[in-house]
Amino acid sequence: MIGLCYYSLKLHPEKNPLSTFFWLPVDYNVKSFNKHAALDLIRFSGAGMSRTDLADRMGLTRAAVSLIVNDLLESRVVLEAESRSAPSGRPPIVLEINPEHGLVGAIDMGATHISIALADFAARIHQESEFQFDIKDGPEICLAKADQTLQKMLKEQGLSISDLSAVGLGVPGPVITEAGMVVAPPIMPGWDHYPIRTSLEKMWKLPITLNNDAELGALGEWAYGAGRGEKNIAYIKVGSGVGAGLILNQQIYGGTMGAAGEIGHLTIDEDGPLCNCGNHGCLEAYAGGHAIAKQGQFLAKSGKRTLLADMPAEKITALEVAEAARRGDLHAQEILRRAGTYIGIAIAGLINLFNPSVVIIGGGVSQVGDILTVPIRQAVRERAMRASEQGVRITTGMLGRRSVLIGATVQAVNVAIHVAAENKNSASKVAVIETMEVN
Ligand SMILES: [Zn+2]
Repeated sequence: MIGLCYYSLKLHPEKNPLSTFFWLPVDYNVKSFNKHAALDLIRFSGAGMSRTDLADRMGLTRAAVSLIVNDLLESRVVLEAESRSAPSGRPPIVLEINPEHGLVGAIDMGATHISIALADFAARIHQESEFQFDIKDGPEICLAKADQTLQKMLKEQGLSISDLSAVGLGVPGPVITEAGMVVAPPIMPGWDHYPIRTSLEKMWKLPITLNNDAELGALGEWAYGAGRGEKNIAYIKVGSGVGAGLILNQQIYGGTMGAAGEIGHLTIDEDGPLCNCGNHGCLEAYAGGHAIAKQGQFLAKSGKRTLLADMPAEKITALEVAEAARRGDLHAQEILRRAGTYIGIAIAGLINLFNPSVVIIGGGVSQVGDILTVPIRQAVRERAMRASEQGVRITTGMLGRRSVLIGATVQAVNVAIHVAAENKNSASKVAVIETMEVN
């Protein structure tokens, strides 16, 4: 049973919408356990998995694996196909997830934007919508906006909510997954203890998963991006704020109150600028998108030679600072270099504590690339303990702006697919939807 030690025997999947791998309900027998384990190995294998590979990975005989595979084929969640990655000759037959077996919704709520997607069971996004949004409007308005957009997207495909199998949602605050709510979120006024998951479940009559956005970024990158196949990863989301999503031992680590990974509130200087959280001198107050924008505005008014002086100071966001830096503005570059150094110092601390194999830098500000990542790498080299530092790869995300959205998709599929695997000969819920955009 090599590799299966991350299954928990305590929790029910619908009550505890998981992380990365299926959590085995108490009333499942060994055969079901193996079936769901096999399903996860197939879904995260990348290019599909042969029966032989599956038997090797699970430490089971070919015969035992055949029983499991037949069961999965009967449920139509899995299908057999010719491998697309065979080097030459006749391609071997591999097991893959049947993408057309169902459809899920995914929602990434940020502080100032919302992205909504429709995706198939292979977590491929078919349709996507993104617009400006303010999380400060509170749960009623924000959830109603999400509902309207999702309904409209489905209608355009001739579908309705009942055609979805599950919806995954990410929000920018500490999430207690079991309760389906956020607790004391610094940038989500009005959301504290609001029953997010229960409200959506009532409204849509579907299983809903709720996670912190940085957690989902980590999950998306772990499943389909820069953290693929890794056991321990940290995803650092540098957006308006700075947060970290942790995957430890192939499970999302949220902590006791869902507040793990709040790297943005590590103190850099106890007498530093005031932070959103009420403390002074947090990392976020130096290196978050808001802080970078403020420094850009200050620079524009300073009288120094800078491209930012050409525009109204109040219009300057982190994006403008990044653009000026890209165009060679030395002062703008200095702002980002300093932000990178502070982020690197915090990451060095995180690496010393958790010893991950990959640290993935994501979020809007990370799109500037080397200007930010070079000082991050340097600070880590200088400050992390040798053993941890030598074992870690620091990279930018592969999924770009979509890490969180794809993480939300992975969570929705998690719930949907394991339920579907229990239904034999079930008709596929949705035929192929018209593909507008494919990741
Ligand atoms: Zn803070």
